[in-house]
Amino acid sequence: MSDNGNDVVICGGGVIGAAVAYYLAKRGVRSTLVEANTIAHGASGYAAGFLSPPKLEHLRSPMAAILEQSYGMHGPLADELQQDSGIDYRFAWAPSPIVACSEEDALDLQAAATEVEGARWIEADELHDISPLIDPGPRGAYLGRPTGQLDSYLYTRALVAAAERLGSGVRMGRVTGLAGEGDRITGATLAGGETISADAVVVAMGPWSAEAGPWLGAAVPVVPLKGQILRLRPNRDLPLAGFTEPGGDYLMLKSSGLIYTGTTEERAGFDAQPTRAGHDTIRAFGARHASGLAAMEVVQHTACLRPLSPDDRPIIGAVPGRPGAFLATGHGRKGVLMSPATGAALAELIVDGQSAALDLAPFDPGRFAAEGVT
Ligand SMILES: Cc1cc2nc3c(=O)[nH]c(=O)nc-3n(C[C@H](O)[C@H](O)[C@H](O)COP(=O)(O)OP(=O)(O)OC[C@H]3O[C@@H](n4cnc5c(N)ncnc54)[C@H](O)[C@@H]3O)c2cc1C
Repeated sequence: MSDNGNDVVICGGGVIGAAVAYYLAKRGVRSTLVEANTIAHGASGYAAGFLSPPKLEHLRSPMAAILEQSYGMHGPLADELQQDSGIDYRFAWAPSPIVACSEEDALDLQAAATEVEGARWIEADELHDISPLIDPGPRGAYLGRPTGQLDSYLYTRALVAAAERLGSGVRMGRVTGLAGEGDRITGATLAGGETISADAVVVAMGPWSAEAGPWLGAAVPVVPLKGQILRLRPNRDLPLAGFTEPGGDYLMLKSSGLIYTGTTEERAGFDAQPTRAGHDTIRAFGARHASGLAAMEVVQHTACLRPLSPDDRPIIGAVPGRPGAFLATGHGRKGVLMSPATGAALAELIVDGQSAALDLAPFDPGRFAAEGVT
């Protein structure tokens, strides 16, 4: 790699682009991160910021390694990155049991608890001790390893700030195309016509990444999946804890002092406006388990867009037939969780030509062309 400060251009300043910049900088590679709006403008700035341990269904899927590795990276990363960046992104661990909503759930969760390391079944009394917001009831819960939590806006900014301290740069501007010589990608073109030259270009534009399909002549089949979150002010002292339903809806007190609860999954294009219907859906989830929530004030209601791929797996790696071009997108519901493993693996791939720490085969950008997806 040359030492001109533009070794790599990263398109998109969400948590994924920021993690790639950070891990490249740790490898001594300076990048330029180009962001069209503000850093963490999209879902990365509004996500719940939970780092859940992989569940049984994940551990049996091609997602197991990336989820497990990234889950394990966040604790040590928090120690290092908060110091390196000077930004306290409020990292903490907290219990988050999965509550059985039916007899069938209870049987499934009990079985899963025997198969997942670090997990166990807890009865209703213990569940109530852990999450006192939950109304007393007959059913227990699956308690896995603790869930990490952080402020995803501050975390994304911390990754960028640390990369900048190591010599990388940030440019505000909209990428409108890629520059190339033959098949090789040699830079990114910004609105206004300027081209930033680079040895490698990473497209990490979240749900907007599909725009790069025509630039690359490759399938980048990422679509937006809208999700809404309510932030509530607790009206009594509560421990740092939460709970989820087997379907994924969640509630947790965060170290900011607010309760985060969500979410929705809506195919609404690029509309990112919170709605009354979203509010009511989330309130109904809370009411099923914790009647005390009804009296708590909603202090913020947000919506943002997950970048979703057709097979729910992220798209990470080199673009086939386009030397110099890389994708890091499609992280769906767990991009904050998967950001360290993604950043570290892509940095290795770019610098060393292969990722030793994580097998990127399940995330190969070429898999869609093989399946005829455009
Ligand atoms: C309601 C909700 C809750 C969530 N909670 C969690 C959670 O608890 N834990 C978890 O792990 N994940 C969670 N997620 C998922 C997570 O937020 C996403 O997977 C992650 O933020 C995606 O990051 P990204 O960097 O790929 O995309 P984004 O955050 O969308 O970033 C993409 C960036 O690219 C920029 N951009 C777009 N086009 C261009 C262009 N042409 N030129 C330059 N810049 C451009 C955008 O402005 C944006 O800043 C949640 C998502 C939602 C919607």
